[in-house]
Amino acid sequence: MPDALAIVCVRSGVLPSGSLRAVAAAGGAALLVGDGTDEAAAHLGASASDLWVWETSGFSPGRWAAPLAEFVERFDAVILPGSPDGRDLAPRLAAELGRPLVAGVVEHDDGVLTVSAWGGSVMVDVPVEGPVVWTVQPVAVTAESHEHGTGPQPVDLEIRTGGARDAVTVEVLAPDLSTMDLVEAPRLVGGGAGLDGPGRFEQLAAVAGRIGAAMGATRVVTDRGWLAHERQIGTTGVVVDPALYLAFGISGAVQHTAGLGDPDHIISINTEPHCPMMSMADVAIVADANETIAELARLLDEPAPADSTGATA
Ligand SMILES: Cc1cc2nc3c(=O)[nH]c(=O)nc-3n(C[C@H](O)[C@H](O)[C@H](O)COP(=O)(O)OP(=O)(O)OC[C@H]3O[C@@H](n4cnc5c(N)ncnc54)[C@H](O)[C@@H]3O)c2cc1C
Repeated sequence: MPDALAIVCVRSGVLPSGSLRAVAAAGGAALLVGDGTDEAAAHLGASASDLWVWETSGFSPGRWAAPLAEFVERFDAVILPGSPDGRDLAPRLAAELGRPLVAGVVEHDDGVLTVSAWGGSVMVDVPVEGPVVWTVQPVAVTAESHEHGTGPQPVDLEIRTGGARDAVTVEVLAPDLSTMDLVEAPRLVGGGAGLDGPGRFEQLAAVAGRIGAAMGATRVVTDRGWLAHERQIGTTGVVVDPALYLAFGISGAVQHTAGLGDPDHIISINTEPHCPMMSMADVAIVADANETIAELARLLDEPAPADSTGATA
């Protein structure tokens, strides 16, 4: 029996960001909870060695905590992705188990959990003795493969009546791209010190919204306070893995690019043709990034031209 277990909340068969990292941190042992757990288990594939699934409808962290605590108390470390659902369930589980909770772990090693503070500018080591619950920062990772996985084993945990209550879900809205978790965004635009001020980031956010992208930035930008630290891409910010990355006025320092994952396509706009970001790009455009953003905003605001039938695109 492994001494660590990842608990991953699943909605409609979809694994939240950070799942693979949590499962890897638990050495491949995982319990999937929610609806569509079999489908989610298939997405985990060989990254789980010991896998349990509890198929249950609705997200009810308050009511789940007690039955889950009974199931997981034999594991010293209970690890959840730092996704919104994971962050909701983890403290309830820790309270039910009577264990400390360490939130937002970026590294773990031999009884020490490292968490980042002050927007990633400070790393704090938390020594851990005894059973604990922790959440991991959701970053994109390459999954480890376990050849001898057991396949999903169904468990049926009993929710007792009269226990903790949960908030009632009135409506689930589509994510707002400007506030969407960067890890989950398939398209990203990034702004760097080549942009001329906070107003330009408002314009860039409008462009991002029009092309279905979320907006991130470099540390120079977040340190200036032009964007919040949770929008910082890089080793001390958020580690992402989009399909498309558009970099405006970004030099491509290693602390930034190491957090980029492996985008299918990179487009870089920079006045310096030989900087690392331009070398990494599939399309490198030597131009003023501020003028380019202004022009993109103008073009995207123009009404689409009518085709020969009179319909607009
Ligand atoms: C411990 C540590 C951790 C760090 N963690 C991170 C991190 O997580 N994320 C991160 O991003 N950084 C991080 N950094 C900082 C990192 O080293 C770089 O300083 C930072 O990424 C550079 O940001 P930048 O590309 O916006 O700025 P710069 O390096 O200053 O580059 C600006 C770019 O804009 C171009 N430019 C200028 N004017 C224009 C224009 N008008 N149009 C087009 N292009 C123009 C320039 O040619 C240049 O390439 C960290 C540093 C340290 C020491």
